[in-house]
Amino acid sequence: MKKIMKKHFPFADKPNTACFTCSHVLEEHKPILYVSHDDDGYWSFLCGGSHTEKDLRLVALAEILDIDGSMADLAGLDYGQYAEAEDAQSNWVVGRE
Ligand SMILES: [Zn+2]
Repeated sequence: MKKIMKKHFPFADKPNTACFTCSHVLEEHKPILYVSHDDDGYWSFLCGGSHTEKDLRLVALAEILDIDGSMADLAGLDYGQYAEAEDAQSNWVVGRE
């Protein structure tokens, strides 16, 4: 199936920028419920659970959009901000680390 590629990438970072997700999102297809953009500029897209280092996976930002295109809505998170949602249907609540 053909994919429609948007010309405008929603993040200020390049599509191949490395970011963190977790095995639960990547391998178990859990919804992304916690997104953070830390002070160093790193993005994390995690399920709502708790994580150790072995649960983390390094992917490109473009892959995150393939997993969940609605992450484009959170591309404007500032450095040091995070967004969390109770479940896949809930609204995002944005906070600061
Ligand atoms: Zn997880």
